[in-house]
Amino acid sequence: MSATEPVIQAEELHRVYRTAAGLTHALRGVSFSIMPGEFVAIMGPSGSGKSTLMHVLGCLDSPTKGRYLLEGRDIARCSQDELADIRATRIGFVFQAFNLLPRTTVLQNVMLPLLYTSCPVGERERRARAALAAVALPEEFFDHKSNEISGGQMQRVAIARALVNSPALILADEPTGNLDSVTGEQVLDAFAALRAVGKTVVLITHEPEVAAHADRTLYIRDGKLFETYEAMKAVGKVIAT
Ligand code: ADP
Ligand code: MG
Repeated sequence: MSATEPVIQAEELHRVYRTAAGLTHALRGVSFSIMPGEFVAIMGPSGSGKSTLMHVLGCLDSPTKGRYLLEGRDIARCSQDELADIRATRIGFVFQAFNLLPRTTVLQNVMLPLLYTSCPVGERERRARAALAAVALPEEFFDHKSNEISGGQMQRVAIARALVNSPALILADEPTGNLDSVTGEQVLDAFAALRAVGKTVVLITHEPEVAAHADRTLYIRDGKLFETYEAMKAVGKVIAT
């Protein structure tokens, strides 16, 4: 991949959910691109399509229409095996609910994604320790069970786990949503550390204080994406978040 090629290139993405209750048009023609090393926040009210977009960007879901290129690869042309490999090695996910394995140590949680790669056994712990150091978790916690640390620490462990495979892209869906403002700040510091090492980060949030840390903010409303808050306001009413 050349340095000038976007990590993410989304072209007119649509996603329609079909349920017994009818159709929901969750994404309505979303286009944008993100360059390597950018830290981008995506803001929008509840139900605006943020998580749907995240799932498409993370290759967990496919668009109903439109084209998605990740590091120049057209995702629609990838086989299921290729998609599994992309998810395991090119993308790191951070979820609001942390999704750590309880009663399992911090170190083991961070090593988990490496079990699905060709990373040699002897190399796994070294990489996990490096990822935990990158999010500034003190070493004394590495052997703690993941359900015996604070919420802010749990989220830093989740970020380290997303980072351990050296993915090109980190996707975070409301990573500070479950945290108080002090621990939320610590988590943002961990993201700032990712930016410092040149990771591309897409962070979904509905908190303006969180978005303020990003290089740029995109706005989503009713499944449509806007490059500025003014552009979003210009199309009509703004739903309060
Ligand atoms: P956000 O993350 O911004 O709150 P979502 O992407 O979760 O928004 O949802 C966007 C819209 O799509 C909502 O109307 C939601 O109810 C609907 N939706 C999301 N996921 C599904 C699903 N799996 N099946 C049906 N409808 C869904
Ligand atoms: Mg959501």
